[in-house]
Amino acid sequence: MIVTTTLARTSAHGVDRELAALLRETADAIVAQWAQELKTGDTPAYVEQPLAELEADCRQCLEGYEAAIGTGDYSKIRRFVDQEVRARVNQGFRCSEVARKFLAVEPAVWPLAAEHFAEADRLAMALWRVRTCVTNAVNEFTDLYERASQQRVDAYVAEMEQVNRRLEELSVRDPLTGLYNRRYFQDRLVTEFQRSQRHGRPLAVLMVDIDFFKSVNDSYGHQVGDEILRSVALLMVNQTRATDITARYGGEEFIAVLPETDHDGALRVAEKLREAVAVAPLHRMESESGEAFSIHCTVSIGIAGYTAGMSDPAALIHEADRALYMAKGTGRNRATAAWDLEPAAPGAAIGPKHKTAG
Ligand code: GH3
Ligand code: MG
Ligand code: MG
Repeated sequence: MIVTTTLARTSAHGVDRELAALLRETADAIVAQWAQELKTGDTPAYVEQPLAELEADCRQCLEGYEAAIGTGDYSKIRRFVDQEVRARVNQGFRCSEVARKFLAVEPAVWPLAAEHFAEADRLAMALWRVRTCVTNAVNEFTDLYERASQQRVDAYVAEMEQVNRRLEELSVRDPLTGLYNRRYFQDRLVTEFQRSQRHGRPLAVLMVDIDFFKSVNDSYGHQVGDEILRSVALLMVNQTRATDITARYGGEEFIAVLPETDHDGALRVAEKLREAVAVAPLHRMESESGEAFSIHCTVSIGIAGYTAGMSDPAALIHEADRALYMAKGTGRNRATAAWDLEPAAPGAAIGPKHKTAG
């Protein structure tokens, strides 16, 4: 038994070396037939590929097979497998299509092997060696290809998730200023209002309107007006907390929802914001004579605070609007709190001069 195994091993080794030599010596013929097999087969990608390219691929693969069979060196075939995985996964090949390329060497080798190995057992051994080598390569390819495809799918899913997050973000932002838009503000106001109602927590709203903005546009043009809107928006963000919601309410009107903020807190934020806008150079320009100058603007702010008697968020907005109207009417560049005003008569309009964007 031991003798037979040793003999078989020796003989297998002999066949391996002979087979490798045969593959090397007849490489041109094998490659030509192998490439032809692919070129005339039923995989469109190979049919369309230039014959010279197919032959180059087949030659590289054959050298891998030959090294694996002759010396047990798998590095060449592994390199080829890696290369195929990387190239084909991006070209959208199916795994079976690439596997066909690895397998198509067999019909090219069989007749040459049959001619070379006269004894049936040595021929069988040679064909079995070719089969084993090809199967190993295909298996290795399949495993790596599946992994690479999965990675590609994962990367695609991650990218789509990022795109979706970006789209979601865009859908709640005002394109000019980057602040939240009015729709998002309305949703958040409802949520915050309900939270205050449920837990009796303070909540304030600041309604901010740029003073005499029309004359800025008239004097410097709409584009400069847009730059100033951006600058004021930035100050809105900088002068409030990350948990506050700052939004563009309308043309030159902004709004901030300040959760967990009582009257004193709201007054402080409003005054800080008013002051910051008043002193900031909102846009720098050059006069016709080349002199640099800055444009300054002021804002008027109406402040309202949630009170237990308020039935819905619209009441809070109405109060802020009323206070803003008063701030405008009493000289602008000021912050006015609704709680300092006479209570509004039921159903009363806010006033003819100031009207917030609808
Ligand atoms: P007040 O102090 O009473 O608020 O005066 P005002 O001039 O600011 O108010 P008014 O309502 O008369 O004018 C608002 C101006 O805001 C007019 C409009 O052209 C300008 N505006 C609105 N939206 C935009 C915008 O997106 N870009 C620019 N550049 N201007 C805008
Ligand atoms: Mg306005
Ligand atoms: Mg205005």
